[in-house]
Amino acid sequence: MLRENVMRWTLIACGLLIAASGTPPRAGAEEEAKPWGPAPVAVERQGEHYRVLCHFDTSRIADEVLAAVEPVWDATVAVLGRSVEEKGRKEVHIYRGAADFAAADKQITGGHFARNLAFMAAVDGTAHIALQPELDDTVFARVGLSAVTLRAAVHEACHGALYQAMPNHTDQPSWLSEGLATWIADAVLVTQKLTPRAELDPMSSTRIVRVQRLLESNALPTPREIIFTKLDDVSFARRYAVWAVFFRFLVETQDSDFRRTMIDTAWRTGGGSTFGARLAKSLEKAWGKETLDALNGEFKAYVRALRPAWDETFRTLGIRGDTWTQMAWSAQNTTAWRVEPVGRKKFAISGSVELLYGTNPQMNVLLARRNEGFVTVAFRADAGVTILDYRTEGEVWRNVGWMDVPEVRVGNEVKFRIRVDGDQITLEIADHDPLVWTLEDVDVTGRWGVGAQYSSAGIWRGVKLH
Ligand SMILES: [Zn+2]
Repeated sequence: MLRENVMRWTLIACGLLIAASGTPPRAGAEEEAKPWGPAPVAVERQGEHYRVLCHFDTSRIADEVLAAVEPVWDATVAVLGRSVEEKGRKEVHIYRGAADFAAADKQITGGHFARNLAFMAAVDGTAHIALQPELDDTVFARVGLSAVTLRAAVHEACHGALYQAMPNHTDQPSWLSEGLATWIADAVLVTQKLTPRAELDPMSSTRIVRVQRLLESNALPTPREIIFTKLDDVSFARRYAVWAVFFRFLVETQDSDFRRTMIDTAWRTGGGSTFGARLAKSLEKAWGKETLDALNGEFKAYVRALRPAWDETFRTLGIRGDTWTQMAWSAQNTTAWRVEPVGRKKFAISGSVELLYGTNPQMNVLLARRNEGFVTVAFRADAGVTILDYRTEGEVWRNVGWMDVPEVRVGNEVKFRIRVDGDQITLEIADHDPLVWTLEDVDVTGRWGVGAQYSSAGIWRGVKLH
């Protein structure tokens, strides 16, 4: 039993916790807190459906999380299509960082989700999320929640709603539990204009890119394999993407009877460790074997037709209209590439960048991505703008140009235009003399993107390819 639980834990990356035997201590119960427990709740906000408990002193984050998660309950009930009893407010706990989250995780699960940074506890349906990345308070005070934390909070709040609404939620196979939670979370975020639609949002778009890569390499699981949970050949990181895109496919392409059958069958099938297998057989019977197999071609065509805009190699980039906020972890540069190559030798990229406080404030415009490398235009606080030509062979960074721009400093917005004409590139910033340099042996027609150096954060505004 324990072994089975451990196996299932390892399969559920977002952290939907399968109930373990015994009752672990509850997070937030300060009188029970051990010396190694998380910080006590410092700020609490309550809405009609959710209670947000921040284990650090921040009104802004608590308000933002509550506003984002409040619509989740109604959205969940609408997707399930039946009236369900709401049994009190669902709790969402936010921790200041990975260490505090890990302390809570240790209390609640024995430490199964230390690396996931978000989970819902099956013992009581409470959601637990670490504020990410671990940047200075001034960054969060300036820009609020990061894209990755916002999505994690709404996603786990969906699990909390499903936990109340569907008695067997924690026994559901991941294609259904994760599919439902991801679908509802995406809809809630888009409706509130907290993210653009899936193809234009870096995190959702990257899921699509992963699934399209599976299709390109003939490794995309069939709907039958997904429903019968035969994803052994799919890497752990890509399973989430498969569940999310497959569920979206079902909702967007199949008629309401088909979806109703899925929800009703899941509702009727009870629970327990054999739930997934019984549900698969029931659905195969309800939909018909031929219908299920016919979905294969439809699913491939659906995946092929999607047009993801972003391939986020490392998180996290949040997009609200023309304003893009990008934040990096302390040990990793973040990069978000546009999926579509520039496709021509003459073009320009323009916009503005504001560096936020950090130990290493540097934001990067990336271009000319190809197998052999890419070019970085690096805006570094109090150090101007540096042009770097990166070659994958030998991992060589070559400094090919530098522009002294005192305006590039924390808290200051700097407008820029990067003009590319064949191998000649011109950097224009305000009244400064343009910096012109020539690239050697670089195909400039490849992909472009934006990045934040490790421990950095910044705001891009109006960045466009011309
Ligand atoms: Zn999840």
